[in-house]
Amino acid sequence: DIYGTERRNSKGINLDVLSQWLPLKQQLDQHMQSSWTGAPLVNGKRLSGESRAVMCPYALSHQVGEVIWATAEQTHGAIDQLAAAFPAWNATPVDTRAAVLERTADLLEQHMPELMALCTREAGKSLQDGIDEVREAVDFCRYYALQARQRFALITLPGPTGESNELYLQGRGVFACISPWNFPLAIFLGQVSAALVTGNTVVAKPAEQTSLLAVRCVELMFEAGLPSNALALLPGDGAQVGSVITSDPRITGVAFTGSTQTAHLINRALAARDSAIAPMVAETGGQNAMLVDSTALPEQVVKDVVHSAFTSAGQRCSALRVLYIQEDIAPRVMELLKGAMAELHVGDPFSRATDVGPVIDADAREGLLKHIETMKVADRLIAETPLPEGLDGHFVAPVAFRLDSIKQLDREHFGPVLHVITWRNDTLDKVIDEINATGFGLTLGIHSRNEDTALHIDRRVRIGNVYINRNQIGAVVGVQPFGGMGLSGTGPKAGGPHYLLRFVTERTRTINT
Ligand code: NAP
Repeated sequence: DIYGTERRNSKGINLDVLSQWLPLKQQLDQHMQSSWTGAPLVNGKRLSGESRAVMCPYALSHQVGEVIWATAEQTHGAIDQLAAAFPAWNATPVDTRAAVLERTADLLEQHMPELMALCTREAGKSLQDGIDEVREAVDFCRYYALQARQRFALITLPGPTGESNELYLQGRGVFACISPWNFPLAIFLGQVSAALVTGNTVVAKPAEQTSLLAVRCVELMFEAGLPSNALALLPGDGAQVGSVITSDPRITGVAFTGSTQTAHLINRALAARDSAIAPMVAETGGQNAMLVDSTALPEQVVKDVVHSAFTSAGQRCSALRVLYIQEDIAPRVMELLKGAMAELHVGDPFSRATDVGPVIDADAREGLLKHIETMKVADRLIAETPLPEGLDGHFVAPVAFRLDSIKQLDREHFGPVLHVITWRNDTLDKVIDEINATGFGLTLGIHSRNEDTALHIDRRVRIGNVYINRNQIGAVVGVQPFGGMGLSGTGPKAGGPHYLLRFVTERTRTINT
């Protein structure tokens, strides 16, 4: 506190933070007891069907609520209705559409305790992750509202006397938004709000693990004034509902965030249709590295490594997977890393003491444990955080392994697993080429106090988001527009000034006056 204005009690606890925290905690406690229900929402109505239990990832016998999955027939019906509603929503003034997003942002803030509780109970998010999640969803709504107002202004172009030329933007039609579970509000709403504010009607398919959050989000959008026929929500299985959506000829564009494998499947489904060519915005996985040279500060490196690799139990697309450390400082960094990992606390995400909560489900845990076992058998273990006794959930302890080459990783391991490679002075360019050769291009961290080295690496890598001398997660809307290249995505930057252009058609009008 450089201004000396903080009020602390005798135990050093910041009283200002505490006074904001306690009322929030009381409301959170109430919502932690709630039960939620979800269903497909078409034309503003909940559709009926068979209910499935939604279970909590960190208290396995606790039911969070119930959700009904959409059928193929309901999916076709939803697209019929959205196609019919498109012309009117597309003709609605951009100011009106933007205002819906702004009111949604206000409602998200008002419902913060409920949404945070649901983030924790349905997605296993820590309290801080829950706050960040709602905040980012709010930021997307306000940012895209602002961008749409600016972008949709009609552009008058030059021409000969007696001729007027104008360029303007319009929606494309029915846009499909398919989202993952790891940012169940922020990415879900980021895609949906971008597609809606640009004049498209939207069919949204959330990840099956986090359908309840999506349902609450859509209900708040309707409460904010979104016409009920502009958006349909179809919870369900990706392979079934998702593929019915992407093979429908009336879908005019897809915004997808998830794994690279699913992106390939969707690309093929779109290409197989005998209809208008639909653009796809794909934001996919990564094999993210951090490159550290011997001029870096070991203490700062370890702080940023632990934050980048283990926040959100490593379930961020941007998370650090492979730490490249120059051999001169490797022993010191390893010593500090072991110490830091021993101090991490794994457990109940609703506790303020917890650093690392659960992974999303049993399949995710099983896949990670298989990889961890293989690495342990190969005698590659550097450090592992102790797992407390008696946990009843999908917990995986943060772990670090020694690796010889990034080529030894056959895929993205989406959890709290860090790999460490030591590099020698003369191999920097080889290391950079090896990272490029993975084909992924999402995030890269660089730690060096030599500016020339840092900028040399930055110029040579093919990576969407590069972070120098800091951690490499937590991109902020409008500040660090986010998105990768190659196997990591088609390139558009969510939360950036060009993103909305991926959702529109451009039209030119020439009038002989
Ligand atoms: P996922 O398995 O690819 O699923 C993503 C979405 O696609 C889900 O809604 C899923 O439905 C749906 N889906 C599955 N198969 C489909 C099909 N054949 N057709 C249409 N939709 C289908 O990914 P995830 O496990 O949810 O998310 C983790 C992945 O997302 C990681 O690879 C991570 O790196 C990536 N990610 C990337 C970014 C980024 O900005 N680059 C951000 C966050 C996450 P179901 O839930 O029913 O399977």
